[in-house]
Amino acid sequence: MMKLLSAPRLRRAKISARLALALLLALLPHAAAHGARQLRRPARERAASATPRRAPDASAQAKIAGRDAAAAHPAPRPRLVLLIVVDQFRYDYLERFGDLFGGGGLRRLQQEGATWVEANYDHIPTETAPGHSTLMTGAWPAETGIIGNEWYARDEKRRVNNVQDDTARLIGGGEGERASSPRNLLVSTLGDELRLASNNRSKVIGISVKDRGAILLAGRMANAAYWYSSLTGQFVSSNYYFNQLPEWVRRFNDARPADKLFGARWERLAPLAEYERRAGRDDAPWEKYGNGTAPIVFPYTITGGLSAPGPAFYDALIYSPFTNDLLISFAEQAIVNEQLSADADTDILSVSFSANDLVGHRHGPYSHEAMDMSLRVDRQIEQLLNIVDARVGLRNTVVVFTADHGVAPVPEQANELRLPAGRVKISDVLNAVRNRFKARFKRPNVEQDTTGDYIQTYWGGQIYLDRAALERDGVSPAEAERVAGEAALTVPGIARYFTRTQLSNGAVSPADPVARRALHGFNPRRSGDVLIIPESFKYLTELGAGASHGAPYSYDTHVPLIIMGGGLAPGRYANAATPADIAPTLARLLRVQAPSNAVGRILLEALR
Ligand SMILES: [Zn+2]
Repeated sequence: MMKLLSAPRLRRAKISARLALALLLALLPHAAAHGARQLRRPARERAASATPRRAPDASAQAKIAGRDAAAAHPAPRPRLVLLIVVDQFRYDYLERFGDLFGGGGLRRLQQEGATWVEANYDHIPTETAPGHSTLMTGAWPAETGIIGNEWYARDEKRRVNNVQDDTARLIGGGEGERASSPRNLLVSTLGDELRLASNNRSKVIGISVKDRGAILLAGRMANAAYWYSSLTGQFVSSNYYFNQLPEWVRRFNDARPADKLFGARWERLAPLAEYERRAGRDDAPWEKYGNGTAPIVFPYTITGGLSAPGPAFYDALIYSPFTNDLLISFAEQAIVNEQLSADADTDILSVSFSANDLVGHRHGPYSHEAMDMSLRVDRQIEQLLNIVDARVGLRNTVVVFTADHGVAPVPEQANELRLPAGRVKISDVLNAVRNRFKARFKRPNVEQDTTGDYIQTYWGGQIYLDRAALERDGVSPAEAERVAGEAALTVPGIARYFTRTQLSNGAVSPADPVARRALHGFNPRRSGDVLIIPESFKYLTELGAGASHGAPYSYDTHVPLIIMGGGLAPGRYANAATPADIAPTLARLLRVQAPSNAVGRILLEALR
């Protein structure tokens, strides 16, 4: 929990370790120094250099040059980084469903890779955009600027989406669909650093059903990001990247692969008893969503209620496992046509599987549907690994597997199981705040209540106060924030609050994990003034059904983190880790500059 605070200390420790090693190399006899260097080099290079010994004069030079000599003969870099993100995949799915996984997917990653079993996000809200923005930047939303899926833009007096870009034009897609770009991302990604280091030769491509899932992993300098249009069933992009889709993407779309899935039946992959044993009944009443008449039991036939492919069908498809299959076909075409890994400059392909999240929201983490999505994504990952093995070779690839956040149980189900769950209405919180404002700030000799406009808006657990209104009435913002927070606390189900003043002035302790997560999610330009934290298992929402995420609690923060390849020692690591550690660790493996604002630690325990 203290790792972020101690990052500089860790770095100092690493530097002094490096100094000590340099001293050791200078002092030790040649043979020992050579051995020490060898120990630090990856296995592949050790094998290659085992037979031809260094000439004596070269060794002497190496001794003089110290560690620089090892850097002159570095191990070959991986040709490809394959980042696999499964949206809303809780860590415990590996444990709950792992015995039903096939051999070549998630089980293979765990056997041949390094698995961190205690990886937790260290920010709130634990949502898709902040999570994705952290993965390849190694930075928290406070720095990436992606503080939520949406936030209130004060200057523009409107709510904006995390990848919204009104200056961009959508390439492909349907009428009225929004164009997206990484312009809101304030820091560099690993892909950006690779492209800087390689004079743009490294290729960086992001693919997902969600625009944010594709764009935020790839970064600002990316060659391309592609996402799925739920109006047309095609893969689209924006003119941030190019003015027309590459020929291979048009070919892919012209074959109308989504249409071939019209009427597809989604059935359970494993026997019913396995689902009932792990996830209870299929027709659980808390799974109702939409108007409450939608089907909630297997099997599902995916038509969107249409008799031929159309927008309602393309939209229905994203709530099934089948868009994951589309992503895999598209990823293969990207590898082949963009010639990923064809040269010595490392390329990055990120694939973010969104359907698991969409299904999870409807049915919750303890459902047949979420379980089946997990079993299927395991097979789909196996397929993707096999494609990469055939096209690139897994020995030339570093594979990363993780998720952008977890999910809490559906409150109605959790209640039935006697957990302290519930839905806290946002309107109740805002009413409490309004009443307290009136009681505290209404001027006694003025007839009219002028406190009515103090709340500018509410979004994403945050109250934005109208600064002009406060100034007009001579109310100090710090005081208004505190009064609002205390009022929110009077509503049952609200655990805590943090104010802009507290978060800006270092008045919260990073040793308090919830406070630290609030701090890591606070960006002064984009965040609100009062952050409201519900109690565990409680949702702050107006929605009456479905599962959600966003909290600082383990069900939302705990995710898988597996890195396979790159010379990492396979095994299970119980060291505390965060998904922000991925980018700095990969930067070390690839020997490029860490992303601009990376604060994650290098996962040294698995480096050989
Ligand atoms: Zn997500």
